Amino acid sequence: MTATEIEIALVNHWIGGRPAESKSGRRGIVWNPATGEPRAHVAFASPAEVDAAVANAAAAFPAWRATPLSRRAETMFKFRELVDANRRKLATILTMEHGKTIADAMGEVARGLENIEFACGVPALLKGGFSEQCSRGVDVYQIRQPLGVVAGITPFNFPAMVPMWMFANAIVCGNAFILKPSEKDPSASLYMAELLQQAGVPDGIFNVVQGDRTAVDRLIEHPDVKAISFVGSTPVARAIYESATRNGKRCQALGGAKNHMLVLPDADISMAADAAVSAAYGSAGERCMAISLVVTVGDVADPLIEAIQARMKNVKVGPGLEPGNEMGPLITREHRDRVAGYVANAGAEGATVVVDGRRDPVSRGPGFFLGASLIDNVRPGMDCYNDEIFGPVLGVVRAGSYAEALQMINENPYGNGTAIFTRDGGAARQFQFDVDTGMVGINVPIPVPVAYYSFGGWKTSLFGDLNMYGPEGVQFYTKSKVVTSRWPDPGTSKVDLGFPQVR
Ligand code: NAD
Repeated sequence: MTATEIEIALVNHWIGGRPAESKSGRRGIVWNPATGEPRAHVAFASPAEVDAAVANAAAAFPAWRATPLSRRAETMFKFRELVDANRRKLATILTMEHGKTIADAMGEVARGLENIEFACGVPALLKGGFSEQCSRGVDVYQIRQPLGVVAGITPFNFPAMVPMWMFANAIVCGNAFILKPSEKDPSASLYMAELLQQAGVPDGIFNVVQGDRTAVDRLIEHPDVKAISFVGSTPVARAIYESATRNGKRCQALGGAKNHMLVLPDADISMAADAAVSAAYGSAGERCMAISLVVTVGDVADPLIEAIQARMKNVKVGPGLEPGNEMGPLITREHRDRVAGYVANAGAEGATVVVDGRRDPVSRGPGFFLGASLIDNVRPGMDCYNDEIFGPVLGVVRAGSYAEALQMINENPYGNGTAIFTRDGGAARQFQFDVDTGMVGINVPIPVPVAYYSFGGWKTSLFGDLNMYGPEGVQFYTKSKVVTSRWPDPGTSKVDLGFPQVR
């Protein structure tokens, strides 16, 4: 059986352009969340296996770096065509290991493709600057060059899109890339490796090491790895940023989120309810841009809750591969139980459980399903407010005023995304001006920037200076060099020990 087939026994590494069988003796289980059964094993790389991937990448880098920009872009374009032609297959792999519905998985692939498309045009973005005649006969210009071997560590919730956020720009800028995917849904990484190879990406330029913290630690410590991109939970993001920068590496580490959706009294209730249900329960709430809290101002709470409840009744929960289902299972049994624990505890904390997803019959099946929950009267300080639950649980916070709501959002340690629902352009503009988050939606609940902008939160949702993908992604994966040049004109040459200045 090859790694591209969906029924696989052991998910291995991909090093130097071929599957690499793990010899570490360590492995984990990949579950099918819809059935609750083990689907495959995944190899856990040893430090020596990481070293082998880095050595392959380092060996492949010089030739790739010297490859003309148009050729690199052409390769990415071929990859784009291959992903486009195989959207369904890639989406099926995602659904089988992550659990998200096939429609949602197709959406993930589509958003990943945007990043590939952006990378196809990256030669234009690599254009530097040129200043003629900075001094007599002296020109100054800036160029951007790749870093070398770079690594990306990705979360379980977007096993194709988040790696594409990273490797599309990294590779087209001339780097060699090592991906350490989530051990919970690792197969998409191997399928993408095969497609990249078919597209003409040279062996060693894209490698995959499967595994856990051991692999990550070695990537961070390895002297030949020049940059670390990370997406995952905040505690891990913080630790990775600290250790990567301590090891002298460039690092962007994107963390978790608690995204508030502010609903002003003049909002269209129907539109706000549609948005809240879609953004809270889509992908079973396992999105870093999911709306997990609705903050109401004035007397909008009761009609909004009524409208949300009416819509929740129609959300079809079931296996992601079955057509018509809108919400799949959670990633693991432990995670499902952890999420259910927040619902169980909410009443004791003083909140009101309006809809208890644990009572949904789907929650009793062998798969890792949990029905959608709605909790009213949530307040800062409660666990269901403070923690990133990362499941199908929507909290409603009743704020007395816009000022109170804004203060709550700005005091939250996370600052990934937020949204405002209103018909008042002035209020929306004021919110955009005031709010301390990196991505803002105005009557748009999940404001994930298109690929030609860059993605990143504020506060504990991102550690590092540069956001991911888009123009900042290009900046992250290249370093700037400034050249000051003069071509000899013997007539003007003389010894001058003074500090160089414009003449
Ligand atoms: P996670 O932090 O558990 O794991 C992310 C990656 O880090 C995985 O590859 C994992 O193997 C590795 N890892 C886990 N623990 C580690 C450790 N101690 N040392 C080194 N590596 C470690 O996150 P997850 O559960 O896979 O993903 C969900 C989280 O990711 C949520 O918090 C979500 O908000 C966040 N997320 C953020 C964004 C964003 O753009 N900000 C996007 C997607 C997901």
